[in-house]
Amino acid sequence: MIAAYFAGGVLGLLAVLTCIKLVVLARGRKRALSEIRNTSVEPLPGYGSVDRCSIMPLLDFHAARGDLKREPGVSYLVKAGTKRILVDLGYNHAKEHPSPLLHNMQILGVDPSALDMIFISHAHPDHLGGMREHRDRTFSVSRGKVKLGRVPVFAPVEVAPSAHNPGPVVQVVSWPRVLAPGVASIGAIPRELFLMGPVREQALAVHVKGKGIALVIGCGHQTIERIIERARMLFREPVFAVVGGLHFPVKGGRIKVGPINVQKLVGSDLPPWKGLRASEVERAIVLLKSLDLEILALSPHDSSDWALSRFRSEFPVAYRELKAGDEIVL
Ligand SMILES: [Zn+2]
Ligand SMILES: [Zn+2]
Repeated sequence: MIAAYFAGGVLGLLAVLTCIKLVVLARGRKRALSEIRNTSVEPLPGYGSVDRCSIMPLLDFHAARGDLKREPGVSYLVKAGTKRILVDLGYNHAKEHPSPLLHNMQILGVDPSALDMIFISHAHPDHLGGMREHRDRTFSVSRGKVKLGRVPVFAPVEVAPSAHNPGPVVQVVSWPRVLAPGVASIGAIPRELFLMGPVREQALAVHVKGKGIALVIGCGHQTIERIIERARMLFREPVFAVVGGLHFPVKGGRIKVGPINVQKLVGSDLPPWKGLRASEVERAIVLLKSLDLEILALSPHDSSDWALSRFRSEFPVAYRELKAGDEIVL
C-alpha cells in the first residue's frame, strides 16, 4: 500500500515537473523566435578570403586510427590561410589529463601554443571540455597544464579559461563579425532546448577564394535552416561546404542512459515526444541539396548512424566521413 502511494507520488511529481518544463520551454522558444525576428543582419563588409582551407577533426565520435581517442564531443583544427583555429574543446567526460583532445593533439602534432585563436561554438559540455566546465562557465583543453598563451577566444556567451589552462583572452561574439581575413563568425543564434534551456550558438565561416563559403558548425542547435539563412544574409558567395554537427539523434543517439536517448531529450525546442523526427532530417536534406554543395561532412557526435546514412546516400559525391585524424581539404 505504502509502495503504491509512493509510486503515485513520484508520478505526480514527475507530471508537475514536466508541466513546468513545458511552460518554460514554450516561453523560451517564443523569446528566441522573437529575438531572431527582431535581429536585422546586414551583409558583412570586408570579410576578405583565404587561398586555402582545411579542417582536421582532432576529436569526434569516430576516429580514423586506433591510436586516436574518440568521444561524443568535438574539436576541429581549421587552417584558414595562415591562421590555425581551434574550434571547440571536446567533452573529456572522464576528466583526464591529458584529455582525449590533448592526447590526439600530441599524436597529430598540433602544438596548443601555436594556435591563432580558439572558437567556441556554444557553451555545452561536449564543446567546452567537460561537465564541470559547463557548470562553472569555463572551458579547458585538458584537466592539467596546457601552454596556450594569451590566445584570443571567441565565444557566444561569457566563459572563462579554467584554472588548469589560464591565459586565453575571451571576447564574446553576439553579432556576425570578421575574426581574421576570410574568417568570420555568423553571430550567435538563440534557441531554447528541452532540459538544456537557452543556448546561443555561433558557426565559423571561411571564405575560400574561387569556391565560396565553408561553414564549420558545432552542434547545429541553431538549425541548419537558420544557419544557411544567416550565411545568405552575410555573404555574397554561395555556401559550398558544410562541416560539423547538425544534431540529428534520430532513431538512435550517442549518449544513452538505459533506454533513454539523452541527445534527443536535450536537443530540441520541442518536447522529446514531438521533436527531432525523421522528417526534420529529410527537410535538411532538401535544403542542403538546393545549395549544390561540394563538401558535406557531418559529425557523428550528435547524429545517429541512421541520420548519417541518409545524408551519405543522398550526397554520394559531396559526403565525407568526419573522423578524428582525417583531414578534409576544402
Ligand atoms: Zn555537441
Ligand atoms: Zn550542444
